[in-house]
Amino acid sequence: MPRSPTLHCRSCGTAVVLRVPDDGDTRERAVCPACATIHYDNPLIVVGTVPVWGPPEAEQVLLCKRNIEPRWGKWTLPAGFMELNETTAEGAARETDEEAGAHIEMGPLYAMMNVVRVGQVHMFYRARLLDLNFDPGHETIEARMFAEADIPWDEIAFQTVKVTLERYFEDRRRGAFGLHTVDID
Ligand SMILES: [Zn+2]
Repeated sequence: MPRSPTLHCRSCGTAVVLRVPDDGDTRERAVCPACATIHYDNPLIVVGTVPVWGPPEAEQVLLCKRNIEPRWGKWTLPAGFMELNETTAEGAARETDEEAGAHIEMGPLYAMMNVVRVGQVHMFYRARLLDLNFDPGHETIEARMFAEADIPWDEIAFQTVKVTLERYFEDRRRGAFGLHTVDID
């Protein structure tokens, strides 16, 4: 669902008004009528990994069963919101650790997807698992490996995860991985 707009001033708590600021801006912003703070609501970045294991002809991908809303009980690649004071790759590694307790060697950026409708950018890195010892955090019911034939396509939590997995297995078959930039409707 689209992110809800700012309703109250983050500085003083007064109800904001939507208007175009006088400083040459061209978009409506949430402006505080009391202290004049202008709130810029910009897209959020979601970072994650495609952690794989095994030889190319029998490669498996790590998926996590969500223990949180939205999409409780659905499967996802480990991913979450980027934090301050980290790079996108660091955030992807952190989320992989937090959600699966997986040990990985980070690879290159693999997919960057604009999800304009909800104001998000999703970035997935390739990653190679160093072992199959997982220790899922509280956000995950279960973390396990899936061969392509066993991927629960109808139970994937997010469109960006589904697209990333589809592209990944296509590239695996071709034996060549690029960087995929995709706009999700
Ligand atoms: Zn204010």
